[in-house]
Amino acid sequence: MPNYSNVVLLLFSLASIIDGVSGNRNRKLQQTVVKEYELFEAETFPQLLTEWEEDYPDLIQVTTAQEAYGLPAAGGNNDCPFYEEKGCPNYFFTIQDFIAHPIGSETSNLLPEMIWSGCLHGNERVGPTSVMEASAILLEAAYCEGLPRDPSEIDAAKECRSDLNNKGIDDVQRKWLARLVSTRRIVVVPTANALGYYRNTREEGTIDPNRDFPYDLTNYDTCMQSITARTLNEIYLDHMFQLAFTFHGGIEGVYYEWGNPSFYNFQNTQKQFRSPDDEAQDQISRAYSDYGDKFEGSKNYEYGTSNDLLYFVRGGMEDWAYAGSWTPELTGTCTPRQFGGYPPEKTQYSNSTLRAFNILVETSWQKEPTSNIGNSFDVLNKDTPGNGHVSRNIRLSLLSAELVEPYAGIVGVNELALTDDIVPMTSRDPESCFEDKAVMVAGNAESVDIEWTVGGGLTIKNTKLWYAKLDDVSDNVKCWTQPTSTQGLERAGKSFSGTSFFSPQGANPSPAGSITDVEPTVGPLFRASVPLENFNVGDKILVLASAKVDPDWKEAPTSLLIPELPPQSHVANARTDPNYFHETNGKKIQGRLQWFSVPLTIVIGEFDENERTVVELNPRFPPDVDPPQDDCEDNADPFLFKGTETTCQELADISAQKREKKCDKNKYRKNCPGLCKEAKCPCANSKFPFIIKGETTSCDDEKEFNETKRGRRCDKFSKIRRNCRGLCNPENCPAR
Ligand SMILES: [Zn+2]
Repeated sequence: MPNYSNVVLLLFSLASIIDGVSGNRNRKLQQTVVKEYELFEAETFPQLLTEWEEDYPDLIQVTTAQEAYGLPAAGGNNDCPFYEEKGCPNYFFTIQDFIAHPIGSETSNLLPEMIWSGCLHGNERVGPTSVMEASAILLEAAYCEGLPRDPSEIDAAKECRSDLNNKGIDDVQRKWLARLVSTRRIVVVPTANALGYYRNTREEGTIDPNRDFPYDLTNYDTCMQSITARTLNEIYLDHMFQLAFTFHGGIEGVYYEWGNPSFYNFQNTQKQFRSPDDEAQDQISRAYSDYGDKFEGSKNYEYGTSNDLLYFVRGGMEDWAYAGSWTPELTGTCTPRQFGGYPPEKTQYSNSTLRAFNILVETSWQKEPTSNIGNSFDVLNKDTPGNGHVSRNIRLSLLSAELVEPYAGIVGVNELALTDDIVPMTSRDPESCFEDKAVMVAGNAESVDIEWTVGGGLTIKNTKLWYAKLDDVSDNVKCWTQPTSTQGLERAGKSFSGTSFFSPQGANPSPAGSITDVEPTVGPLFRASVPLENFNVGDKILVLASAKVDPDWKEAPTSLLIPELPPQSHVANARTDPNYFHETNGKKIQGRLQWFSVPLTIVIGEFDENERTVVELNPRFPPDVDPPQDDCEDNADPFLFKGTETTCQELADISAQKREKKCDKNKYRKNCPGLCKEAKCPCANSKFPFIIKGETTSCDDEKEFNETKRGRRCDKFSKIRRNCRGLCNPENCPAR
């Protein structure tokens, strides 16, 4: 049973150097820990969820349909013995950054929402494990990226980053996963059919849950009979989901609407009809198939409509979740008799509730596969040799979290790769980024190059850079909400188009061309220059990137469209119609055409130096006070200065004034950096002897004194302080 912690340690030597050629990224992976995935037993879910609640209290909330909605538990006394009451509990949990977006806050209400249902059929076993493993990756990465919250956590922060690297999640991927957690609400129902999963049976008792939803039925007495369907129904009523997965098994493919008999062979025309959202459905499903990829014995998932490629059903969850709010002719109010009935108002839906892409994934030919489950080796890369049923569906799940809402992010300034964009578990003060995402540039810089990325979609149009003096736009532009207009913002450079990392073409322009010399993102990379001539020392300039994403999703099919309506889904309208607005249960979806990054603040510095110098202000990790020792090594041999032979040793014993004069000369600075470059070499100890009170000493001699005496001598004699800086100020010199 306890198979989750069964981590297989494998040391990959050559195999760990993966060249992500077709994965779009060139990187060196050094993974030392590889976990072989195993399909979960029923009791593993509550065990793991309890652990996560303890480990990540700010990122997850766990409950059951019994606790949250007062639903009865299906099953008898012998079912789910790990549950203290009769029957099986229907667990579900919410992944959300509860510090950044406290429940009920405006930013929480605006989070794009999605749901993963691991199984409606209890004997189809890949989905539940896949959504749990995907959640595990998200939580671990987001928690780690949220550290350090204060200086005491710096070591923990470094350690978890290194752990993740050992598990095959590199820095760029960690930041990507953290963004998803911190900017979305992901609801996960790992085993909606908890009884079926426990018994390893398709149905919940005698009811097939995927015929139990009020859609295209002939008789509405026979819906919401199962606790499985009621669990999902209650959760849907609480939210406005945009993207959803419903995992099944027994065949392999990714299927979308339509999948009901009324729209199949409509009016005996023998034609394959399209939904109003066919364009977006097709593009998203293709991306899922592509990122899932293939492995031995399994091709890339086919994708298309259920009516075309699979079969239609009455009472299916897929079409219900997509169209229940806007095809009233195909819905009805359920009046089941099971479990003491169900209130009729629970199946009377608002105009906003049921407009999700609830994509059906048939995971595997075997409902419970016994081989090719996959492992965690480079699991976010579709080309991984560890690919298998669970690995593939982990990626599909994460991709849905990516695609639910567009975003832009500024990642580089000149040659400096910025360390942070979205930091989980920090409160979102409306102006906090003006301090935390800020750089200083040289006062003589005439311009500054900015690199940014765009994600959350497939096609990128009109992406561009904006800037303004902070004081001029601070009423309109805040850190964590989208600007209400571009008034007062100037455009820098031109407008670009491109494609995202997950589009069939891959990331374009490629992040491999970054001038920061690192690939700062999984996504495409755009670049423009902000002119600085008109700003003065001390000025603060806000820079934002914006993009339009997936504009083609607003087009309904031109033929075979049924019903004849424009796109109806939240996800297509939210990015193509600025006037789109829905609100239910306090949750809101506001459509927009342009998606803005968190602003970067550029401060014009007082220093005139190399005009490409950029200093990150207020980084969470203090800059290393540990200079490369080699650069501080004094030359032990004589060298020539203005034709005369001289040595570094001479500097160690002359007066401070004389020494300063000599150290002004490049020749001395170059040969004697340990002695001359006090700021750059704060822990250098000179190897040359010098005289104190008529007696010859050296840093080695001083080291022999006990700590108290050494300290006293350092305090008393400036020559000791200057020659033996490491000895006198050990706090400048962290252990190497
Ligand atoms: Zn199924």
